[in-house]
Order: sequence, then structure tokens, then C-alpha cells
Amino acid sequence: VRPTTSEFDYVIVGAGTAGCLLANRLSAGGSASVLLLEAGRKDNYHWIHVPVGYLYCIGNPRTDWLFATEPDPGLNGRALRYPRGKVLGGCSSINGMIYMRGQSRDYDQWARLTGEDEWSWFRCLADFKAHEDHWRGLDQWHAAPGFDHSGSRSGGEWRVERQRLKWEILDAFSMAAQQAGVPPTNDFNRGSNEGVGYFEVNQRSGWRWNASKAFLRPALARADANLSVWTDARVTRLNLKRTDGALRCVGADVQTDAGIVTVRARREVVLCAGAIGTPQLLQVSGLGPGDLLRSCGIPVQQDMPGVGQNLQDHLQVRTVFKVHGTNTLNTKARSWGGKVAIALEYALRRTGPMSMAPSQLGIFTRSSFQQIEPNVQFHVQPLSLEALGEPLHGFDAITASVCNLNPTSRGSVRIRSSDAGQPPAIVPQYLSTFEDCSVAVDSIRLARRIVAQPAMARFQPEELKPGIQFQTSSDLTRLAGDISTTIFHPVGTAKMGPKEDAMAVVTPRLKVRGISGLRVADASIMPTITSGNTNSPTLMIAEKAARWIQEAD
Ligand SMILES: Cc1cc2nc3c(=O)[nH]c(=O)nc-3n(C[C@H](O)[C@H](O)[C@H](O)COP(=O)(O)OP(=O)(O)OC[C@H]3O[C@@H](n4cnc5c(N)ncnc54)[C@H](O)[C@@H]3O)c2cc1C
Repeated sequence: VRPTTSEFDYVIVGAGTAGCLLANRLSAGGSASVLLLEAGRKDNYHWIHVPVGYLYCIGNPRTDWLFATEPDPGLNGRALRYPRGKVLGGCSSINGMIYMRGQSRDYDQWARLTGEDEWSWFRCLADFKAHEDHWRGLDQWHAAPGFDHSGSRSGGEWRVERQRLKWEILDAFSMAAQQAGVPPTNDFNRGSNEGVGYFEVNQRSGWRWNASKAFLRPALARADANLSVWTDARVTRLNLKRTDGALRCVGADVQTDAGIVTVRARREVVLCAGAIGTPQLLQVSGLGPGDLLRSCGIPVQQDMPGVGQNLQDHLQVRTVFKVHGTNTLNTKARSWGGKVAIALEYALRRTGPMSMAPSQLGIFTRSSFQQIEPNVQFHVQPLSLEALGEPLHGFDAITASVCNLNPTSRGSVRIRSSDAGQPPAIVPQYLSTFEDCSVAVDSIRLARRIVAQPAMARFQPEELKPGIQFQTSSDLTRLAGDISTTIFHPVGTAKMGPKEDAMAVVTPRLKVRGISGLRVADASIMPTITSGNTNSPTLMIAEKAARWIQEAD
């Protein structure tokens, strides 16, 4: 329901992972009025909630912005589909549900880069725990709703569960990784994620648990109803006011089904539009690289060279191995009998392949002996296909995808025109550094080494991609470009940093530099990408932002 007022204390742009948490926190207590604006629709679409429905939400205009990258030289000229959630919950409504914090060194590095101790691992851990509802309950590393040993309230809304399925071939892969020297782990989220084990997932009893269910619904159910949520409401421009030379963000223009509505923020506008939407919105509003804005005919409100730069993403090198003498999803889901059995298992017990996150088994390890810390992550899947969106292969096979956790390649997000409705140019520049190419080559060799271990022998693995006939580094570099794709973790396009860093868009407390009344609190503020999946780190960022906004800090 659209309220008649168009003035609020806080206006939040984007009801994705970060926006939902922030809306909950800023509206708690009932004293501040909050408007949450979302370009997509409600999350009342069945494929969002059934975990396997991930496959049907990507590439679907009901839930996805349908972005694509520019043709990428590192990928031998291929352009990639670049899914981003366009719905309540944002990407948390269409993502792979893997719960991963990253490594302690990621956050200690943020603290060093920004000069702000609040970003150290120790301090971030407290903000991860603030909203965690972990199946293990309360311990040194995890939290669940209740009270801790000192009698303080602990835990929160973000449910983390174990997966509800196992595959013989994944158990064998896990054993093979151990034979190759990777230690087993039953918890990737204690600061060092080194090891092999099954991922934990954001699900509740076999259903997807997205940011909208976790944070928005409880906030909307509060009696004092000071939170307004507008869906189908796309922000087209931020409204800036200059007084005596000082720039302030006073609100935004919103495209709704009733036309353009102007909303005003008494205290702050907070951008949570994600690593593509946030820089795009800043740029069309005149906050970005001066030359780019002028070339699009946009008056430069403030020349900010860093807006849209520093794009970082995890590239997954997808190696595929045909296997024998066991079932993978490729053949299990092929016959009608198999499909019915899978559907029945989910209907009766909420277990089996329909409860499946796209990747089940994870490995964090070093791609070569020269690496001091785990620098690659495997996502191992009991399935294979030519490319995302294509049908499963008709034979049994597994995919062992390997990501370089700390890529040095940097890309950009840049508008093409002043029209906020036109998708920006997304230029990831994957594999554009020597280091990233070497890690990709080492990753393929590492996957081969694991598959060659005794634990996999009885399944007679045959390498389909890239193909065992290719052995030289130059061949493998070229083939990495053919078989790799995004694992959907763009970050860094409005990075935080100290004032000496001319490319920093926001301060370490997430205020947009040089402008009052405007913050960014989403995945775009990361100065460097975390060593793992990026959803829960984004919640942690929003948790901090909410506190600082309330403290007016
Ligand atoms: C397919 C896929 C799989 C993934 N798998 C995992 C995983 O398994 N585990 C993990 O940890 N991470 C995963 N991720 C990454 C993770 O989900 C994201 O990093 C995280 O959701 C980013 O949160 P955000 O708040 O920055 O942006 P988003 O969640 O993208 O939210 C941005 C919101 O803003 C809205 N918006 C944008 N522009 C405007 C505008 N102009 N006006 C109004 N609204 C606007 C969008 O519609 C969206 O709802 C995956 C992502 C994808 C796409």
C-alpha cells in the first residue's frame, strides 16, 4: 500500500540482501519512518522458495534484471549473462544459498586499507553473529536467538542449516581431496575456511531462506508499522541540493505505475541497489567520473573517478568429469520415474535434489605450494551441462568448478546514457592479469590431481573439460577462457577507503564522500572481494551501516 506521504526519515533504495536487513533495523523501535524502494516485484513466486527453483529464477524477467557483460577478451570474446535479483530479497531470492563469511584475513585487510578498526575480523564476527540463527546454536563462532552466557540477547534472523542430501560421488570427491592433502572440515565459517566439506545453506526446513523472509516480513508485522515498502518502484535519480557550495542528498525520483513520484528523506538516503545498480544510480545522478558523465550529457554534480571502477568478481573455471557406476543428477532426473521420485521425496520429507543448493561440496585450499593462504574455492556439483541455462548432459558426470578467491583483475560498470532505464556496460576484464591466468591454470591442474586420487578410481573419471590432451600452460590459459563463467559475486564498484584514496567512493563509515545525507551499504563498498560467497558478508556490512546510521555517525 502506498502511503500518501512522500517524506520519510530514511529512504532505502533496493530491497535486496542489504536493503531488507537495513529496513528492519532502521524501523525497529518505531520512532523513525522508513521507505524501502524496490524496482522488482514481491517474492511471492514459487520457484524462489523451492531451492532447486534457482534454475528457473536466473534468466527469468520475473526475478532477474537480465544483465549481460560486454564481450570479454579474457574469455576469448564471450559475453556472459550476468544475473542480478530484481525482486524483494534481491539476489538472496535467486542465489545459491551457500552460507559463507570469507576468511578473517579479508576483514583484517579491510581494516588496514581503510584505517578503521571496526572492519577487523574480530569486530565483523560480532556483526555476523548479530543476525545469525545457526543450527549449531550458540558457541564461540556462532549464534542463535536466545541469551548468551552474560545474559545478553544473542543471534537473530538469518537461518543456517545443513544440507538435506548426500551423494556417493561427492563423498568420494571429498575423500579424494583429503588424499590430495586437504584437511576435512565441518565448518567453513571460523575465520579460516581451509578444508573440504559440505556447505551450509540459508534454508529453513528445506525451503530457501531469503533476506525478505528473514528481515522484511517480521518488520512489516510489527504493530507500529513505520516501514513502507514500495515494489515496482525504480529509483531513476537522486535529488541533490547545493547550499553555500555544500552538496546534500535530499531524496529521489521514483518510477512507479502511477508515474514519477518524488520522495524526500529527512535524515538519509541509503543506497542498497547492489554492485551494478548503485554505481549506475550514482552516475545518472551526476556523481561519477567527470568525462563519462559529460559524454552522456549529465551535469557533473561532483567528479568522483571511483564510481563504477574496481569491479571484482569470482570467475569459476568449470572442469567436467564423466563418471561411471554411480548416479548423478544428470541421469537421476532424466526419466519420468526419476522426476516423480524426486518430487515425492521433496513433497513428503523436504529432502533430496529439490532441496538442493546448486553446489553441495566445497573445498578451500591453495592452488600451488607458493600460496601462503587458501586462495581457491571449489564448488563441486553432481551434475554437468554445456553452459548455465542449457539442459543437463545425458550421461553421468560431475562439475568441479574452481574460483580464484582473490583475483587481481579489475573491471568497471559505466552508464551508456543519461537514461536510468538503460542497462550499464559491465566490463569484468576477467583473466586480465598474469597472476589470475596462472591461478586458473594451477586450478585446472589441481582439479586433475584430486580426481586422480584412489578414492575416485572406481568411478573411472574421464576429463571432458577442458580435456586431458591439453597440458601446456598456454593451452590451459586459453581453455580457461572458454570454460569459465561468473559465480555471480560482483563487488567493489563504490569502494570504501580513507580520504587519501582518490578512488574511494565512501568513507570507512560508508558515507558518500563530499555529500551529506547519502550512504552506500551493499556489496559495492567492498574494497577487495571476500574469500568466498558474498551474500552473508553483505548482510554483515548492512548490520554495521544500520548501527552507524542510527548513531548518526
Ligand atoms: C545466481 C546467484 C547465485 C549466488 N549464489 C550465492 C551463494 O550461494 N552464496 C552467497 O553468499 N552469495 C551468492 N550470490 C551473491 C549474493 O547473493 C550477492 O552478493 C548479494 O545478494 C548482494 O547483495 P546486495 O544487497 O549488494 O544486492 P542485491 O541483493 O542485488 O540487491 C539489490 C536490490 O536493489 C534493487 N535495485 C537495483 N536498482 C534499483 C533501483 N534503481 N531502484 C530500486 N531498486 C533497485 C534490485 O532489484 C535488488 O533487489 C549469488 C548471486 C547470484 C545472482
